[in-house]
Amino acid sequence: MIWSKEESLSREELNKLQTQRLKRLCKVVYGAVPFYKRSFEQAGIKPADIKTLSDLKNLPFTKKADLRDHYPFGLLAEPMDKVIRIHASTGTTGKPTVAGYTRGDVDLWSEVMARTFTGAGVTSADIVQVAYGYGLFTGGLGAHYGAERIGAAVVPMSGGNTQKQIMLLEDFGGTAICCTPSFMLYLYDTAREMKVNFSNFKLRVGLLGAEPWTHEMRREIEEKLRIKAINIYGLSEIIGPGVSFECVESQNGLHVNEDHFYPEIIDPKTGEQLPDGEEGELVITTLTKEAMPLIRYRTGDLTSLERRKCACGRTTVTMAQIKGRSDDMLIIRGVNVFPSQVESVLLSSKDVAPHYHITIDKKGRLDEITVQVEITPECLASMTKKVLSADLKSFVEEERDLARLRGSIQKNIKDIIGVNACVTLMPPGSLHRSEGKAKRVTDKRPK
Ligand code: ADP
Ligand code: ZN
Repeated sequence: MIWSKEESLSREELNKLQTQRLKRLCKVVYGAVPFYKRSFEQAGIKPADIKTLSDLKNLPFTKKADLRDHYPFGLLAEPMDKVIRIHASTGTTGKPTVAGYTRGDVDLWSEVMARTFTGAGVTSADIVQVAYGYGLFTGGLGAHYGAERIGAAVVPMSGGNTQKQIMLLEDFGGTAICCTPSFMLYLYDTAREMKVNFSNFKLRVGLLGAEPWTHEMRREIEEKLRIKAINIYGLSEIIGPGVSFECVESQNGLHVNEDHFYPEIIDPKTGEQLPDGEEGELVITTLTKEAMPLIRYRTGDLTSLERRKCACGRTTVTMAQIKGRSDDMLIIRGVNVFPSQVESVLLSSKDVAPHYHITIDKKGRLDEITVQVEITPECLASMTKKVLSADLKSFVEEERDLARLRGSIQKNIKDIIGVNACVTLMPPGSLHRSEGKAKRVTDKRPK
């Protein structure tokens, strides 16, 4: 099912719409935002010079630092009496960045989130538990408005409160849930501890996002919870969730709402545009936003774009699952490593659980990477059985099993990322669980 006709326009129709909107946007920001007037002038460009989508590449980028330099309201294109909402990023990487919304922007947000829910197969017949945080963070309210727009019954739980989430999910019979993938797993573990069986729930689909996750993590979630796990993407600077989403038909690539958010991929080092299929930094131009329109905003997120026919009937460009942020990249002994690569390796072993933490430190002059990962309760149970059998042979065997598991993970990490990691196997439940975005990395190296 498709929510809006704009999602299945021909490329020609879509480009026409995008071009019209881009031209208008350039005029608006030039007239209303001193920062953009200056940046156009410095590039020697007048709004009238922007005639086609390919002219966009001549415009300068907007960076996160520009938002901070104009903190809090310096980039608004509308007076405060037109602004009806203010959000701010969670500040994962430093001081928060602020975003303002007009009534039209909140309406747009509801529209793109309605598309997202529809893409995930959610309809007015569903009960949607929103377990993203409500507040300055855009996750909760974004999901809330979208679910309301399609006429679903919304349970505005917000984040945290794990046991109550489970109780209400069971009692209300929620069929869809919105949260981070790491919180989804935390809910599953907590339900197990509470001796509540998730497979008796009516839950059918999770709209999961706000943090990077891998296909391996998706498989794990889908198998354990017996639900469809749908990846959704967005960032507060652009609108919040609703920038792109997977369709339930293919679950392969996130459809970008490109009639509103025009995507480009650039080489993060040179700033050059890259062709479809090549991985680089995602840059977005908000074609229709009113309060805080952004031109060529550098998201810092790494992905690639693909234009292909999709089983769902949408014609919009898709983006690959985010590999990480360019500022998430760890340089370990000169090698570039993304936490998502480590996650893929870990989760390909059936004996380890999707809970891990990476620590980087310096030993002498060398970087050292330690990966703590929990073994599954099943793996622990089988080992305990061997130990309890009290014969020496089983005891030794168990030791050997652990060493073998650790060794094979270490080897796979080395094969994939090219550095030696020290792997520590942890008992189930011992690592910290996040109720929002998971923090997977601690970098203890002196700056
Ligand atoms: P903050 O920058 O403080 O984390 P946001 O809450 O707006 O602010 O988070 C947006 C960021 O979250 C994105 O730029 C991206 O890095 C990450 N993100 C959101 N959704 C996804 C997703 N589905 N996959 C990977 N990363 C995501
Ligand atoms: Zn599709």
